[in-house]
Amino acid sequence: MAGFMDNINKGFATLNVKTSNFMESSKIRAAITNKETEIASIMKYVGETVYLNRSGFNISMVDQQLNEIKSRYDEIESLKKQMAELEAAERNITGGAVAGGEAKVFCQQCGAPNKAGGKFCEKCGTPLVN
Ligand SMILES: [Zn+2]
Repeated sequence: MAGFMDNINKGFATLNVKTSNFMESSKIRAAITNKETEIASIMKYVGETVYLNRSGFNISMVDQQLNEIKSRYDEIESLKKQMAELEAAERNITGGAVAGGEAKVFCQQCGAPNKAGGKFCEKCGTPLVN
């Protein structure tokens, strides 16, 4: 019976991780979109500055803006890294790639981990959804 409760708890843990990962990755996605919008607006300013000063343009006129664009691209890079780490953590928890590298599928009836590709749960015999 302990195994059964472990599997139930594992099921809830998986759900919790999935939910918080989903919220976390939504936040990261929103932050990336935000940075991209800021980059677009700075790019527009740079373009306008180049155009308006076309007869005497000097790159130092937009130095600050170019640095701001660069730092936003760097932030986007690190946000994407965070996203990849979240996805990797979720794959670990949900059994897509468990430690040891063996893929698992969890029984929808009793929550027991089974080898991916199996037809029936080794514990309770319920057909598995792979
Ligand atoms: Zn089962």
